[in-house]
Order: sequence, then structure tokens, then C-alpha cells
Amino acid sequence: MEISEIKEKDEKINAFIAFNNKFKSEEEGLKRINLSVHGKLKGLKVGVKSNMNVSGLKITCASKTLENYLSFYDATVVERVKANNGLIAGMTNMDEFACGSSGETSYFNPTQNPSAPGHIPGGSSSGSAAAVAAGFVDCALGSDTGGSIRNPASHCGIVGFKPTYGVVSRYGLIDLAMSLDQIGPMAKDVKTASLLLEVIAGQDGKDATCLNLDKNFYTFHKNLDENLKNLKFGYAKEFDDLISDAGIKNVIHKAIDKISSAGGEIVNVSLPDLNIALPTYYLNVYVEFFSATRKFDGRRYGYKIEDVCGEEVLRRIILGKFISQKENAKRYYRKAIMARTLIKKEISEIFKNIDVLLSPTVPKLPHKIGEKISDPRVMYAYDIFTVLANLAGIPAGVVPAGKIDGIPTALQFMGNALGDQKVLNAMYGFENL
Ligand code: GLN
Repeated sequence: MEISEIKEKDEKINAFIAFNNKFKSEEEGLKRINLSVHGKLKGLKVGVKSNMNVSGLKITCASKTLENYLSFYDATVVERVKANNGLIAGMTNMDEFACGSSGETSYFNPTQNPSAPGHIPGGSSSGSAAAVAAGFVDCALGSDTGGSIRNPASHCGIVGFKPTYGVVSRYGLIDLAMSLDQIGPMAKDVKTASLLLEVIAGQDGKDATCLNLDKNFYTFHKNLDENLKNLKFGYAKEFDDLISDAGIKNVIHKAIDKISSAGGEIVNVSLPDLNIALPTYYLNVYVEFFSATRKFDGRRYGYKIEDVCGEEVLRRIILGKFISQKENAKRYYRKAIMARTLIKKEISEIFKNIDVLLSPTVPKLPHKIGEKISDPRVMYAYDIFTVLANLAGIPAGVVPAGKIDGIPTALQFMGNALGDQKVLNAMYGFENL
């Protein structure tokens, strides 16, 4: 699709906040030097979530706070996309500061779900998912703190992957909660997602939390293997109790049956502490987000965040401030950290016995755009199956599994820390069934 056509079609979808005005000349330049170019993403169009720095483009985090902020440098992931001749189409829409699960909290208006018109695309990487689903780009970068890659991928019927914490550099990403955030790929299929991951992953001197692993670890695309036969899959009975939509339950169980028929071994596992995952996640996020937003005080960048932000961002700042206060830290934050350790332990125990943990991605179908949700817990409920991977720092990806009344839903694959290849292989195997 030509960039002019994307711009025209995006008037309906609103997947982009800003387009790369140099796109056409960059594309033509690439064609002209065609023979000498060997980048892995040669000529592929890439969307970038509006919380990652791309030099010369508006990095707004979909907030009025940064509405006029022009970036002057490239995030490491962006630098690597460019070095591999990927073409950056523009900055995608998102929930404000990545706080949300619907794509509706953007200052630049909500994004439509191209695969389920009238419904939310999910969030917070709403624009990245919609841009892929609408065929505007070949792939996109999303960020995932508690499911923001996987949730919109599920609702939009595409593939999304959150790597093990530390596999991809966060340099140049505007934090939501830095101990949970990871950048990852979104694409129509597992192959393209693995290719983008292969490009962006790897050690980075600019991010101290970024791991330095053997170079063979990072060859995700090259090493894809669709064989499900030697893999042992787990499914926790607690997942079923939390799915609120019968259609989703049906699609997920059919998908598991398919894996079993293809030779994958399925075993029952148990996650008794699943019920504390959401409060644990949100308490951690509030505190880290409050601290991350202190730099938006109106002196260096744009406006003071509290003066202009939306309701959900303000809620997190106020609660984060409250929980961080010395007299409250013991009661809430310290407990949240303890609970996080507990969940992490429970999950690593499970992986002693299985290769891949399967689960639904979302417990319910996406609501209609504009539907009033006054209790934040109703929005938070979308995240129950996705926050686990962030709390434990493990890899997790989603692949479309079927539709309910025309609305897509995905099966989630989680792996042990650094089991990224295994997870991608299982996703690839399932996709090809
Ligand atoms: N929906 C979750 C939240 O609002 C996840 C956000 C994300 O992963 N960026 O925090």
C-alpha cells in the first residue's frame, strides 16, 4: 500500500498519530540502491508505538503532555530497524502513556478495530495492532508492561510477542513501569514477528538491564521450528474459572485439542495464586509510573502531566504517590513486591515440568468503542492472563485461535525465562496447523 493510500484509509481507523513525511523519499532511495542493500527488513513497512523515540518525529505518548514533543534521537530498537532497511511509516496511536487496555484513552482519539468494526482494538498498543491488521504496515513495534502487545494483537487477529525481560533494549522507550516494560514485535504471522524480533533484540550498552547472551540466542527467525511433537504444554484449571465468555472458552479448548492432535503433550498444572496477579501488577505499576512521570513537570517537556492528562493517568499518579509515601509503603508496596516474588516462584516451579504454558489471552471480548466503563477494575480485568508474564519476566506470545461472532481471539503461549525460541516455535507450529 502506498503511503498516500494509508493516510487516506487511516482517516477511518486512526492507527497513526503522525506519519513519517520522509517515507516516500526513503522508500525511493532504498529502491535505487537496491542491489547493495541486504538489511533483514529490506523495504518492509514498520509502525512504531508513540512511546519510542524516532528522530524528527512527534513522540507524544498519545498525551497532551507531549503533544508538541519532537524527538532528536532514535531508540535502540528504531536504530536497528533503520540499520536493517526497515521503513518507518509513522508513530502509532496508543492509550495515553500506555495506561489502558482499550486504545480509548488517547488524546488523539480512539483507534478502530479493523478486524471487528465498532469494537475497541485493545491496548495499549492499539495503533500498532490496527495498522498491522488493516494491512497498512508489514509489522509494528509495541511495548508490553502487562499485556499491551498481546491484548490488542488478540482483539485484532494478529500475532504479538513479548520477549523475556532484558532481551530487547528499552533505551529510548518512555517508561510506564520499567521493571515490567518490554518492547516486542507485532505482525500478521509468526515468521515476520520473529524477523523483527531478531533485528531489535540483543545487548545494548545504553540499557543496563539489557542482557548479553550468546549470539545464537538471537537467531529467532532463522531457527523457527514448527514441530510440536516434542513439546510438553501445560494448562491451568484456574484459567477456565476466569474466562467470562463461553465463546472464548470454546475457541481456546478447541485450539488446545488441535495441539494435542498434532502430537503436543498436554498436562494439567495449577496456579493457585492467579487471583492475586492483578492487584500485584497494578500496585507495582502505580508506584513505578508515579516515579517515571516526575520528569513531566512542565519545565523540560511540554505541559505538567497532572494539569493536562486523562483520568486513568491521573489515577495512577495519585495512587502511586500515596502508595510510595513512607508510612504506606509497608502496607502496600512491600506486600506487592512480596506477592510478585511469590508469583514468579510459582511460575518457575511450573516450568520444571512443562515447556510451554498455554492460556487464553483475554477473558472477554472487546467492548464497543465509547461504551462507558466507570469502574476501572472492569478495564483492568482484561489483563488477568497477560500480567503473569511481565510479573515473572518470562516470554509470551499470542496467535489468532478463532473468532466469536466475527471477533478474533488468540491463544497465549508462555515460556520459561530465555525460552523465547521455544515459545516462538510453538506459536509457529500452532499457526501452521
Ligand atoms: N492494560 C495494562 C495497564 O493498563 C497494560 C498496559 C501495558 O502493557 N502497557 O497497565
